[in-house]
Amino acid sequence: MSFKQSDALARVQPSATLAVTQKARELRDKGVDVISLGAGEPDFDTPDHIKQAAIEAIAAGKTKYTPVDGIPELKQAIVDKFERENGLEYTASQISVAPGGKPIIYNALVATLNPGDEVIFPAPYWVSYPEMVRLCGGEPKSIRAGIETGFKITPEQLEDAITPRTKWLIFNSPSNPTGAGYSRPEIKALTEVLLSHPHVMIMTDDMYEHIVYGDFTFSTVAQVEPALYERTLTTNGVSKAFSMTGWRIGYAGGPKALISAMRKVMSQTTSNACSISQWAAVAALNGPLDFLKERNAAFLRRRDRMLGDIAACAGLSAPAPEGAFYIFAECSAWIGKTTGAGTRLETDVDVCNALLEEAAVAAVPGAAFGGSPGFRISYATSDEALLEAGKRLRKMADAIT
Ligand code: PLP
Repeated sequence: MSFKQSDALARVQPSATLAVTQKARELRDKGVDVISLGAGEPDFDTPDHIKQAAIEAIAAGKTKYTPVDGIPELKQAIVDKFERENGLEYTASQISVAPGGKPIIYNALVATLNPGDEVIFPAPYWVSYPEMVRLCGGEPKSIRAGIETGFKITPEQLEDAITPRTKWLIFNSPSNPTGAGYSRPEIKALTEVLLSHPHVMIMTDDMYEHIVYGDFTFSTVAQVEPALYERTLTTNGVSKAFSMTGWRIGYAGGPKALISAMRKVMSQTTSNACSISQWAAVAALNGPLDFLKERNAAFLRRRDRMLGDIAACAGLSAPAPEGAFYIFAECSAWIGKTTGAGTRLETDVDVCNALLEEAAVAAVPGAAFGGSPGFRISYATSDEALLEAGKRLRKMADAIT
């Protein structure tokens, strides 16, 4: 019998970020010195006090099933975090813990979407939003946020995108893939629109909350507009801030009924997130954040160096991102041009293929994020690698005609 995937899965694209990483790996295996700017995770290690908490959890035998959506200690740490850092008041029954930020978002969608329900989000978007919506039977609708608005949507665009079928707005700030962060007044302007559409629920994706630069201050929707608290799911996780991508802990605070529906999903699918990782996350959320200062300073230095390289490349432009560790380079001026090796560039996928094959630099095409023409550069890699990648990028740009 030949394998046939389900109709739901057939509508889904595999992760393009993983595809680039795979291609880069293949070239590296052939001996090519590829510099990967595709990483979606910090190149720093998990802080020691967090690792220690996990070791202690193992030693204490905390290795069994836990309550489906999180141990009480972690829920309390999350309640405290939301209050301390975001001015949001939740009780433990309003908190969900899952194996990563990704499942948190998926659980919320699968718990709420019916066929035909629309989910709106700004583009360029994180690759998984449209695919998760499709898997859940919903209709993804992206709102184009171009470079002219710093890759942010305007209140008018939001108003135009909302229909009677809109179930959710997914709002990711700072953003993957652009690093764009919305200021408090910018969020306020969007919440004014949302107030007049009471059927729309809001899912924030605050994964990059702690990776921000300069005088940018992170804000989240329910904090900026308390009247939206009742219909907002505030999602976050320890993956990026604490360099804990492999530990798989994400969490959310939101309406009790939604949290309980998400628990029902987990009870019949994943069950609890890893018990040991949950104890590590307790240490992360209750512990100091001072290690972030040095790490963010390193990210900022790398960001600025890469922005300088992009500015030196004729035909590329990128606004300075407020947060995360990505730069989204707009490359419309390269489309229709030819590389030094004679490759004609019709799309940003061609651009990224040429970058990889001719300059041995791996970046992810804007097409993967609904953001063509452009490409995403992750600067979560060493200063030396970035210095060399910048040189290669400039060399390639110089040869384009
Ligand atoms: N949201 C955004 C915007 C992300 O970039 C990521 C990871 O790349 C996630 C959510 C998922 O995080 P996790 O690894 O905790 O599932």
